Amino acid sequence: MDSTYNTSGYYSASYKEAKERFLQAAVDLNAQIYTYHPETLAQPDLTIDVAIIGDRSKPVLVVSSGVHGVEGFFGSAVQLAWLEGMRRKGVDKNICTVFIHAVNPFGFANIRRVNEENVDLNRNFLPDNQCYRGAPDSYEDLNGFLNPEVPPGNMDLFFVKVATNILKHGGLQSLKNAVAGGQYEFPKGIFYGGAAACDSTNIIKENYSLWLGETEKVVHIDLHTGLGQSGDYKILLAEPEKSPNKKWYKKTFGKKKVEFLASGKGTAYKASGIMGEWLQHYFQHVDYRFAAAEFGTYPVLKMLKVIRRENSFFHFGDRSSEAYKKAVEDLKECFFPASFEWRRKSLHSGLEVIYQAVKALKYL
Ligand SMILES: [Zn+2]
Repeated sequence: MDSTYNTSGYYSASYKEAKERFLQAAVDLNAQIYTYHPETLAQPDLTIDVAIIGDRSKPVLVVSSGVHGVEGFFGSAVQLAWLEGMRRKGVDKNICTVFIHAVNPFGFANIRRVNEENVDLNRNFLPDNQCYRGAPDSYEDLNGFLNPEVPPGNMDLFFVKVATNILKHGGLQSLKNAVAGGQYEFPKGIFYGGAAACDSTNIIKENYSLWLGETEKVVHIDLHTGLGQSGDYKILLAEPEKSPNKKWYKKTFGKKKVEFLASGKGTAYKASGIMGEWLQHYFQHVDYRFAAAEFGTYPVLKMLKVIRRENSFFHFGDRSSEAYKKAVEDLKECFFPASFEWRRKSLHSGLEVIYQAVKALKYL
């Protein structure tokens, strides 16, 4: 991979800056650009932007960012670095590249993982015939702890409470599956999947055929940050563990990097309503390979503590208070660490993953 990338320069300080730089880079490459505004969003300047470069009958590389709002700071930087690399080195005419910028523009602009309806969009892509109902039993048990209606203070004893719950729920991994897998019963709770398909979700669903054109082959990298070891990353698959494509993923991205979400092991956890799962299901006529690339930041319990606190303050606290500002800052740090080393290393890895995807796309 090109080692001349000056990684720090690709990170933007805000959603607005990230969007402007993304669009400018796309214009510089004569990309076809589509802009969508979710109707549930009050601010008209918050949009999902799609840039398409190349002939859509060719194999397609899709790179998406910001499904989890705040995680878009990282995903957008990777997209920008790749776009600028294309400009410098010339566009590969054998493939088409589709960039989806900020699937959840509200969360990106307002430093939340969830959208304007408190929905985790990566729990909102349920199959079209499935009801948005239900929650894991353990989540219902834990609701009082996970979603306190009085914002937690400094004497919260989070780690004592969580340790008790880990024991009660059969270990950290099963607690993670129960909490993060998605729930459809507590609209102000964390990891809420919504009461119906959200506007952002419908924008993706309704326009995806247009973006893909006549292609028969797709490799899709959906960029995320959070779970996993800091500075490292995993390739999380929405396909069943017995997928015939297992070998291809391991060969493409490396044996040790690939995990199946359905296994509920390692970095992975079982979740419902994942965007990639929906896309693979509805584009069965296309050879559609989907990988969520998850770049690790902080340990899982620290993340849970920060997500829970920010969510509780957002719904039940005083949003003008210093304590709320601190909760938001902590959330940003959790999904977009300020560390120069983290940013450098993760951006390089992000580009490496896309490079691997492009290479494999040609031989799919
Ligand atoms: Zn994510």
